[in-house]
Amino acid sequence: MSTQQGRPVRFAAAARAAALLLLFAGCGDGGAPIREEWETMGTAARVEIHGAGPARASEGIAAVRAVFDSVTALMNAWDPESEIGRLNAAPAGVPFPLSPWLDECLALAEDAGEASGGAFDPTAGPLMHLWGFHRREGRLPSPPAIDSARALLGGYRHDRAARTVTKERAAVRFDLGGIAKGFAVGKAADRLRALGFTDALIDLGGNLYCLGAPPGKRRWRVGIRNPFDRNALFAAVETTERAVATSGSYERFVTIDGRRYGHIMNPADGRPAEGSLSVTVLTPDAALGDALSTALFVLGPERARDLLDRRFRDVDALIVLPAAAGERRRPVLLTDRLRGRVALLPGMEEEFVLAQ
Ligand code: ADP
Ligand code: MG
Repeated sequence: MSTQQGRPVRFAAAARAAALLLLFAGCGDGGAPIREEWETMGTAARVEIHGAGPARASEGIAAVRAVFDSVTALMNAWDPESEIGRLNAAPAGVPFPLSPWLDECLALAEDAGEASGGAFDPTAGPLMHLWGFHRREGRLPSPPAIDSARALLGGYRHDRAARTVTKERAAVRFDLGGIAKGFAVGKAADRLRALGFTDALIDLGGNLYCLGAPPGKRRWRVGIRNPFDRNALFAAVETTERAVATSGSYERFVTIDGRRYGHIMNPADGRPAEGSLSVTVLTPDAALGDALSTALFVLGPERARDLLDRRFRDVDALIVLPAAAGERRRPVLLTDRLRGRVALLPGMEEEFVLAQ
């Protein structure tokens, strides 16, 4: 196991879960890959680099760490000291200056929000709070409370030229949890490319980026989380030069009166989105992929497919749906290009079926 900064790498439960996400294709003549895992952004990070000796690979890993640390300092909404934490605490009516990456990520989030007809909303914070995700203890909100939280959605002005945000009401709360990991993974992939790495895999809590391929292969083969068990996989997809982002309600949920409510909010009704079990998106743009996985989850399968057809023809998606009445297996919808590139893992044919 490699070490970083003289510290042995610790494998927490979350890190073990992330390790499950990779199905190794085996090593060819390129020598052993260099792998490292650590915890960051409330989840497990993992990097695997091929075709580089330990000294160069650790340079690449240090670059990825630096990117993740920067994004955490900017976008961790749970930390009052982060930039977004300070923006959330800022008063109304005063322009708040954004650093370049927060400005860029917020603009991407807004574009995803516009494209998805508001299904993706970077100001979902009050809804997350209302449903108890900050206390990690669910509480069924009253309809007037939902209306008040919804009234705060989108209540700000982002001046992209001046790089400032002005809140209309002090209670407006930004939450970039649906895009920050993808943004970080995309920036990390850019850094690795700029440093000359061609074959690497980056995984940040299930947001992956596949650069090149393992030795002797044309693509990476990566696992997709089982919607019922975040520590297990149910399928694998082959891809290269793509980000792979998965959203599901299994990730985080609260239990209210014995019922589970997932952490993806539908801004249209202020309630946790239901309809899909999980959505996986493949695209060269990791931030877009992360935002779209959340947006397509909110939209449900029909409107998701419609959005992809209309606006995102080069984006691929895999959507797992609940089993139809009287059926045992859950259908897995695939965009056309994914046919033949997705396989259920052994034993999973009992529980899932790739839709034709
Ligand atoms: P994960 O955190 O598992 O990667 P997602 O990428 O789907 O999952 O992001 C879900 C997170 O996004 C939530 O925990 C919350 O922080 C934020 N969020 C919830 N609902 C929305 C929404 N409608 N639009 C944008 N972000 C959202
Ligand atoms: Mg997302």
